[in-house]
Amino acid sequence: MELQSTIRKQVGCQGIGLHTGEPVHLTLQPAPPDSGVLFRLLPPGVDILVGPDALLNGHYATTLGWDGVQVQTVEHLLAAVAALGIDNLRVEVEGVELPAMDGSAKPYVDLLYAAGREGQAAPRRPLYVKEEIRVGDDARWIQISPATETRISYTLDLDHPVVGVQIASFAPTERVFVEELASARTYGFLKDVELLRQQGLARGGSLENAVVVGQERVLNGSLRFRDEFVRHKILDVVGDLALLGRPVVGHVVARNAGHALNHQLVREVHRRAAGWERGVVAALHHPVGRSEGEPRLHPGLAAV
Ligand SMILES: [Zn+2]
Repeated sequence: MELQSTIRKQVGCQGIGLHTGEPVHLTLQPAPPDSGVLFRLLPPGVDILVGPDALLNGHYATTLGWDGVQVQTVEHLLAAVAALGIDNLRVEVEGVELPAMDGSAKPYVDLLYAAGREGQAAPRRPLYVKEEIRVGDDARWIQISPATETRISYTLDLDHPVVGVQIASFAPTERVFVEELASARTYGFLKDVELLRQQGLARGGSLENAVVVGQERVLNGSLRFRDEFVRHKILDVVGDLALLGRPVVGHVVARNAGHALNHQLVREVHRRAAGWERGVVAALHHPVGRSEGEPRLHPGLAAV
């Protein structure tokens, strides 16, 4: 049985929000077992527990809200937290959006490593996907299906000479995340910048915290990976899956999806999860004589 973990000591960082351009100060603190990842917004001192119920609609970032307050662009921190197996964490935010840092999750990985990790005497409760769920349309979609390990396979197919078609598949274990995904930066197209800014987005965006794609080349110089774009899309999926509030085991396959579709998938997984887990309980208590329509026990749960 895997046990939960938190961080060992308090750490902090500061920066500006990618979309708001506002300064923000962040403090990460240890949290007790079974408490999950909690954002405390200062002011006004409102707590937002990471979970599907706190998810607000958004296309360009993941925003959480509760009780009239919200915190934007949480996905890169959540990706690092999930990939490093940290279950319980308190995040104090003085500001309205998490710092963009360098546009990737690598600074958050470094911050979490600086904090160290501490095991806790409570079992981790992964959610095993029991049936295929797919959202989107023929052009843009994301699905998750049952699997024995978590894997994300992504196709980014953009009609743009710099991006083109990029296909990648990773099982985001801690090592793979740190080495292959964490440092892939968010990106934006120069032609969209004006429009985004008119909508109040990308106000803090710069060559320091995003890959900026011009008509024929990347304006930042070199990329960190040849396929940095699709790797960042996978990083975002890792962060958005963390919105379930617990580790999820399944194979994600996506094509040209984004935060809005990721969120739809998370909501649908959450909606069906209660039924899957009721099915597990029923199967454990009534191992014989199940009718064919009942859910079957996933092999990953046989030892529960
Ligand atoms: Zn991102």
